[in-house]
Amino acid sequence: MRISNRFNFLFFGIAILICCLWGNFNNSTVYSAVPSYTTRVSQIAQAPNGEFIQAPLPYDYNALEPFIDAKTMEIHYTGHHGGYLKKFKKTIEEHPELKGKTLEQILGNIDNMPSDIRTSIRNNGGGHYNHTVFWAIMTPNGGGEPNGEFAKAINDSFGSFEEFKEQFKAEAFKRFGSGWVWLVRDKNGRLEITNSAGQDNPIMEGKYPILGTDVWEHAYYLKYNNARGSYVDAWWNTINWDEVNARFKESQTV
Ligand code: MN
Repeated sequence: MRISNRFNFLFFGIAILICCLWGNFNNSTVYSAVPSYTTRVSQIAQAPNGEFIQAPLPYDYNALEPFIDAKTMEIHYTGHHGGYLKKFKKTIEEHPELKGKTLEQILGNIDNMPSDIRTSIRNNGGGHYNHTVFWAIMTPNGGGEPNGEFAKAINDSFGSFEEFKEQFKAEAFKRFGSGWVWLVRDKNGRLEITNSAGQDNPIMEGKYPILGTDVWEHAYYLKYNNARGSYVDAWWNTINWDEVNARFKESQTV
């Protein structure tokens, strides 16, 4: 009897010890106090501690030629995106309560952000998100046709990929001045082509941006001058359809 009790004591003691150690281990490896940076954009746009970062481009500046020229890529990545990020980080530093939040949580609650920094978040946080997506959905070996479940969704929603591209280009002309054109998934699961002004994006309206193209002149003027349509036509040759398909799948989970 005594041996059995001692065994039980040891057994449960060890079990409790393992549970405690496991709990500590988990606490040190997951960010229990802050959101987990698991979305495709968060993993690129934020470090594991939540700090906003500009990940290296996954290809060289000249890798998307002839569709997007190296000079445009360099100025766009370093000057424009780099500038938005720098200002965004400064803005967040002014409000430590936002530290640790994901980009999606901040942009998705834009109307509840502190009024003194709301405009900066809209412009610079939006700019950081938009450009992070933009670099990720392009690749040197891109183009061709959509694949996977996304290809079916495009056909179901727009009739064909060709028709989708026509509507997308038409939307690019609807945006007067600087902005973005998007394919989004709305809350009801519908795919929709939209555009936004400045660095606004669909997350600010509760929609998930599956793909988007930058129609600010800084994105195309060096090579295409004022020919926005030619730029959009050429841009399809850079698309990383695997990434777009992955974003489409993610859009169904958020
Ligand atoms: Mn841009």
